[in-house]
Amino acid sequence: MNTIFGPVYSRRFGASLGIDLSPGRKQCNFDCLYCELAPAKAIMAQHDVIPLNTVVADLKKALNEHPSIDVITITANGEPTMYPHLRELVERIDTIKGDVQTLILSNSACLSDPAVFEILLRLDQVKLSLDAATPEVFKKIDRPAEGIHVEAIVEAIQRFSRVFKGKLFIEILFVKGVNDTPGEIAALNRALREVACERIDIGTIDRPPAYPVEGLSFTELHMIAGLFDPALPIHIVSRTHAHATPSTYDDDEILNTLDKRPLTRDDIEALFDVDTLHRFETLCSEGKIAQIERSNVIFYLPAKNIARKRSK
Ligand code: SF4
Repeated sequence: MNTIFGPVYSRRFGASLGIDLSPGRKQCNFDCLYCELAPAKAIMAQHDVIPLNTVVADLKKALNEHPSIDVITITANGEPTMYPHLRELVERIDTIKGDVQTLILSNSACLSDPAVFEILLRLDQVKLSLDAATPEVFKKIDRPAEGIHVEAIVEAIQRFSRVFKGKLFIEILFVKGVNDTPGEIAALNRALREVACERIDIGTIDRPPAYPVEGLSFTELHMIAGLFDPALPIHIVSRTHAHATPSTYDDDEILNTLDKRPLTRDDIEALFDVDTLHRFETLCSEGKIAQIERSNVIFYLPAKNIARKRSK
């Protein structure tokens, strides 16, 4: 069974070769309501473990076939940090990857384990999920295995962000009626104010979920984005934009909207109708709206706010 997939092209990470550390079946310490994989009882350790040499051999072959990729992404049908040979794998990747970046996509559950924490520090890019910050909502949305506590996860993410030298991304997936309440968003906001990261991607369900739950509209996500501290680098992920209803904004409303939250081109085209887009372009050409780049994503904001941007 091949453990490598791709290359997959994404605007955010470039051309990526994926490593699947559980290609046979889902093995995860969560059983999220929104998971794209079928429901499966959350477990604390992998039962089916792919030999390290198999993964490395598959990766070497794929790197020969695809020499111009940007990033090797460590992932799994489940949680990649549960792979018992992760340390050795990262060490072996470092010896063969050349200039290619390394990235891991994790649900953060194992980050409070000092061994996992130390391994993730060795990667170039780390993407950590945090769907909730209160124990009740965390248990409801992520359905973790016994013994996993969100307080420990939040503390570990905050601590990791202070010492990690690479690029850290946070991802929050919102489920209607579960983690989209003002109280939960306030708790997430408090937790994330202590996290230094490149970007916080917020999104919602866009593939059939494991359980009968619903996603949010782009407009609802935009409203949620506005509830976070403006200093946080919130980014609404673009796959949700198809459901947007564009509206009319005058010049002041455009600037006020961007003042509350810098927006990407996709956000702007989803939110603004045709006339508003013309007004937006005029404000750009007049120098009243500026651009900043954050890990390959361009954001628009009032030019006067440039000094306010948060840096790691
Ligand atoms: S952490 Fe990922 S793989 Fe695991 S249950 Fe949640 S969505 Fe599925």
